[in-house]
Amino acid sequence: MDRKAHPCGDGTWNSIMATLSDADRLVLANGLILADPARPVTVPHGRTVISGDMLAQVNVPRDDEALHGKILDCSGCLIMPGLVNAHTHGAMSLLRGVADDLPLDTWLNKYIFPAEAKHAGPDFVHLGTALSAVEMALGGITTFADGYFHMEMSARAAVEVGLRGVIAQGILDVPAPDAATPGSWLDRARAFFDGFPHDPLVHPALFCHSPYLCGPETLQRARDLARRLDALLFSHVSETRWETDEIKRRYGSRPVEHLNNLGILGKGFVAVHGVHLADKEMELLAESGTAVVHCPESNMKLASGAAPVQKLLDRGITVALGTDGPASNNNLDLFEEMRSASLMAKLISSDPEALSAGALLRTATIDAARALGMDDRIGSLAPGKLADVIVVDLDRPHLTPMYDPLSHIVYAARASDVKHVIVNGRIIVENHRIKTVDDRDIKQRARAFASALCKDLGIETDFGALLNHDRQDYV
Ligand SMILES: [Zn+2]
Repeated sequence: MDRKAHPCGDGTWNSIMATLSDADRLVLANGLILADPARPVTVPHGRTVISGDMLAQVNVPRDDEALHGKILDCSGCLIMPGLVNAHTHGAMSLLRGVADDLPLDTWLNKYIFPAEAKHAGPDFVHLGTALSAVEMALGGITTFADGYFHMEMSARAAVEVGLRGVIAQGILDVPAPDAATPGSWLDRARAFFDGFPHDPLVHPALFCHSPYLCGPETLQRARDLARRLDALLFSHVSETRWETDEIKRRYGSRPVEHLNNLGILGKGFVAVHGVHLADKEMELLAESGTAVVHCPESNMKLASGAAPVQKLLDRGITVALGTDGPASNNNLDLFEEMRSASLMAKLISSDPEALSAGALLRTATIDAARALGMDDRIGSLAPGKLADVIVVDLDRPHLTPMYDPLSHIVYAARASDVKHVIVNGRIIVENHRIKTVDDRDIKQRARAFASALCKDLGIETDFGALLNHDRQDYV
């Protein structure tokens, strides 16, 4: 076969092969491949060659010549782009399950805010984000967009685990864990940018909590700072009916109209949630090129409502998928999120054709990458793109038999089916085990934190301590 004519090759086989050394060369062999979520066709896989942090060749024919360097056998598996979680609050894994099944204001005011006020320091953010990053890596998420406080520590955790991260410093008009006085957020944000680690995996950004906790001046100053530093600005927008009513009461317009009036909408702005949107607001999002992050499981759990995702897609709006934080989801499984998003869309529209499997896969890969301004580098597998690749084990009872791999990925697969994960050319998960950090130590420290929190909040039974007790009995 003429290698230069291969549809997935880059036509420069010999020149690339001549420049690769075995030390920085990783070859994925065998299995099936789904390289481009924009055209999700699964085909038999030959070889995919990673050189350093880049994909050098994608699905070239099997050839003995290609088998040097480290070989990762992907027999029985599907090779696909890493998943992109476009919105979470990683540090909140330490508050997962502390309280559930409550109204949002009770949940926040009785449990989450008191716990954050006392504990959400740098160590909390470092440990909680590391725990979330391990969970995401094991589940095939290779890039995440994180929004919280003390975000240098989130960046540090991402780099340690080996995940790609868009790390957004939180902004509030009320006292925050890392900005004690209202208005001090600007100094905090400047310090965040100044101290941000120089690492190709992480990118700094800003995260205004919402139009109801960030006034017009704060939103505009954050926008100006983000634009000056070529960084993204995120905000929760139109998450609840209460928010819509409150913004109308304060400013006389709905949330997206309010943001449009302030000049916030546009390519560098990412609107998270977009649950309660009027038609004219969807038009504003479309005209301005604003991306929306859909977090269906958090929206369902907090009874916020169902975002009109199909209508957003029909208007050409980029929709990315996100888990939201682990305290309101309560896991970081983007496979589950794809399935939930599809089921929710079909239910609310009474249309089984709403949000197809292909559309959902795009929201978790290439469209999420586009929302983060990174679709030229990640979100699909092509020569010259960064090597963010996952390998999904298809030899599972719930994935057997298989008529359509795309159907299985969206409707049947689970995070735990991910076997290998490669980020920036580096294997960070191999055979379902994280290779970059000591995950047992991270889990142990998370249980120790929970023991202290149980005492603070008057939670009677410390189940983490009970688990530790069991473990000591049998070691
Ligand atoms: Zn959120």
